Amino acid sequence: MTDTATETTGTDELLSELRAWLQQNWDPDVTVAQWWERLGLAGWAAPGLPTNAYGKGMARSDAVLVQQEIAKFGALGAPAGLGLLLAAPTIAAHGTQEQIDHYVRDIVTGRKAWCQLFSEPQAGSDLAGLQTRAVKDGDEWVVDGQKVWTSGGQYADLGMLLARTDPDVPKHQGISYFAFEMLQDGVDVRPLKEMTGHALFNEVFITDARVADSALIGGLNNGWAAANTTLMNERAGLGSGGGNAAGGGAAQPGTVMGFLGRRAGDLAAPAASTRGDQKSQQPGGALGAMRGGAGLLIGLARARGVNTDAGIRQDLARLYTLGELGRYNGLRMKAVKEQGGDIPGMPNVSKLSMSQIVRLSRDLGLRISGPAGMLHAYDVDGKAALREATGDPLAGGVTEMALFAQAPPIYGGTDQVQRNIIGERVLGLPKEPNNDRVTPFSQLPKNA
Ligand SMILES: Cc1cc2nc3c(=O)[nH]c(=O)nc-3n(C[C@H](O)[C@H](O)[C@H](O)COP(=O)(O)OP(=O)(O)OC[C@H]3O[C@@H](n4cnc5c(N)ncnc54)[C@H](O)[C@@H]3O)c2cc1C
Repeated sequence: MTDTATETTGTDELLSELRAWLQQNWDPDVTVAQWWERLGLAGWAAPGLPTNAYGKGMARSDAVLVQQEIAKFGALGAPAGLGLLLAAPTIAAHGTQEQIDHYVRDIVTGRKAWCQLFSEPQAGSDLAGLQTRAVKDGDEWVVDGQKVWTSGGQYADLGMLLARTDPDVPKHQGISYFAFEMLQDGVDVRPLKEMTGHALFNEVFITDARVADSALIGGLNNGWAAANTTLMNERAGLGSGGGNAAGGGAAQPGTVMGFLGRRAGDLAAPAASTRGDQKSQQPGGALGAMRGGAGLLIGLARARGVNTDAGIRQDLARLYTLGELGRYNGLRMKAVKEQGGDIPGMPNVSKLSMSQIVRLSRDLGLRISGPAGMLHAYDVDGKAALREATGDPLAGGVTEMALFAQAPPIYGGTDQVQRNIIGERVLGLPKEPNNDRVTPFSQLPKNA
């Protein structure tokens, strides 16, 4: 177990330290692997991690500023994806120092890409009902089961695997958290196509796959605590005010589809470091566009000549206000954390607020676009043809965003689940009565 360091160095001081470091170290001619090695080991890839885990113990809001500053400088940002966003902070909090050095180092330097093997066909909101099992065999575990919705599973080296290691205790108490090798026999990853036309997530079938005992994170049957750290980081990172940048930049890590051998400068052009058309393992470009928020849609409204419409102006103001509230909540959280406190439920509030922003952006974007909001293309060639036919560089972008808008209110825990958590854990409302916390998992009724 490690402490979560919270250094309180001033933001301005840190950013000028970063600029000086970039002046000395950024070189567009090195490979992405070489650049990420420098960035990661210096603590700038994931500055929100503790200092013993390749970070600088910075507040999330400052870590977002760091990523923005790197992009502004014109250097390549940190590796994209769930390794940096979820696995690294979980291993930093629950892993041994040996595990941190083994796994987190490879994450901050982009050598390995990760996916999240949590959800199952019968265990999404009720995650603790998961049925994938791991059975001990010498100094290894044998894993069998099925996962679903696994974002980026098709190019992950490792997965954050939740598996049942003791079915004879209540369901939350018999789960373990493993760093699971994806590239092995017995792991079958099958992409699922979404209505945007992309296949961001997958079904993963696991049959007699193996994971070493040394890959157990946080101790046997203690996976629920580690899983909650992952989920808390997911909600805070994906929520409004969290900033996707906290989870890394646009370039893909890992051995399967990673950009490691490419020239760093080719991926760091300003347009590449800030644009939303690169796919990250979670929600990619469309969410990036929604995060562009009011500014992006104000520009679109002007371009379409509807910026004088009173209804549209009012909703643009609402969108701007929601974005600012998210930003202020991030600052509030930082201030409270610096004093050693916490704001219970803030990650849940922030994720709910993100859902609101996403829905409003979808509806507003389609209203601003008018009939053009019905035009969509599903691949690179189709997009080019659409742009050529309409003469509109944004054609298809709004529909992409609108089609994807259904996803953020679901992943990382649905809106209803966030409200349940706020009700039960923050407001102290009574839980729905059930026996789940006392009855052994093996005796609970199952859907399948
Ligand atoms: C784009 C995308 C990417 C994802 N990526 C990943 C990933 O990488 N890894 C991963 O493990 N998972 C991932 N997920 C899965 C996601 O976490 C689940 O979809 C989510 O937890 C909901 O689970 P479910 O789909 O099984 O829905 P269910 O749990 O079946 O819920 C169905 C409906 O019932 C409601 N509901 C359920 N229980 C309650 C309750 N107690 N009170 C009130 N309402 C309730 C829900 O809010 C929802 O509206 C992803 C999902 C999406 C959409």
